[in-house]
Amino acid sequence: DYISAIPEESDMYVNNTATIKLKVPAGDEFNGSVLLKNLYLSCDPYMRGVKHSDTGTTAQDRIVFFAPDSPIVGYGVSKVVDSRHPELKAGDLVWGITKWEQYSLITNTQSFFKINHTDVPLSYYTGLLGMPGMTAYAGFYQVCNPKKGEYVYVSSAFGAVGQIVGQLAKLMGCYVVGSAGSKEKVDILKNKFGFDEAFNYKEEVDLNAALKRYFPQGIDIYFENVGGKMLDAVLLNMRLHGRIAVCGMISQYNYEKHEGVTNLMHLIYKRIRMEGFSVNDFYHLYPNFLDVMLPFIREAKIAYVEDITQGLENGPAALVRLFSGRNAGKAVVAVAHH
Ligand code: NDP
Repeated sequence: DYISAIPEESDMYVNNTATIKLKVPAGDEFNGSVLLKNLYLSCDPYMRGVKHSDTGTTAQDRIVFFAPDSPIVGYGVSKVVDSRHPELKAGDLVWGITKWEQYSLITNTQSFFKINHTDVPLSYYTGLLGMPGMTAYAGFYQVCNPKKGEYVYVSSAFGAVGQIVGQLAKLMGCYVVGSAGSKEKVDILKNKFGFDEAFNYKEEVDLNAALKRYFPQGIDIYFENVGGKMLDAVLLNMRLHGRIAVCGMISQYNYEKHEGVTNLMHLIYKRIRMEGFSVNDFYHLYPNFLDVMLPFIREAKIAYVEDITQGLENGPAALVRLFSGRNAGKAVVAVAHH
């Protein structure tokens, strides 16, 4: 209750008897800690996978996003309010793994990047210039091994990752087709993001036939965001020596038992390389990524669509919307002004 009484810009903690400046507590255990004011929180499909976190292979894969009686954990953009970290000071802007609350005390700052470029909207660091952007960049350039002129298919193409992958592929000179779940999304894929073609997968009774229509000569690269029946249909349409970058399988996240994929023999018939990847293994490339992306943004070579929900209290509903496609673009929750 008292948090809501804080004047917007003050970073003060007010209760009935006192106004206290928000500070990192004293004590050796808080050396290196920062106190953050959260500005934007990111809604990401992987947060749904918490029930499988015990299968994670790296420390970052094993983060628990939903723990009883604790705030949700997730990526966000924040302002440093107080710092006992040698490289961060009050007023700095950062992005990394924070919590779904107004102010967060962060004792492990390992996931955080300092934001040095503020001529772009800060919310971009939850998407285009943050984790989903890095996912698109690493997945496309490092995993897909793309070449000019190749035939590229992106599923969930209007999403945070998909819209960037499609545009990177266009910038490389590929032929790019995307699928998404509504006519409005399909129109934007073609008219704003410059995809060569796009289709509404929900209107296709036969996904194999739809892919044959858009790729009569077959698919060289499939950027997989969806899994299940879509993957099965894609396998039938891959070209010799095709590559499938397995980024995500959102159609399966709400199922206890995943849908069977029956066409895996096509991996052999077509000598396809199918490779799963995690963005967590590529953050060392973040400076290279910024060198590529910032000029693309400043020169308007990349377009970007966000779906911003106002207010922390509306965050959980925004997160749930991802799983029925009711987000249109990168889903972000705006918590405060900086
Ligand atoms: P999006 O912004 O694309 O949001 C999710 C979208 O998925 C929805 O808008 C919806 O779009 C689509 N969707 C939801 N349910 C289904 C379904 N049953 N079948 C088909 N499509 C569905 O999310 P992101 O771009 O952030 O993430 C895309 C994928 O990338 C996810 O699978 C995610 O888990 C993965 N990912 C993987 C990472 C990695 O390191 N490997 C890192 C980040 C993300 P529509 O209207 O088109 O149905």
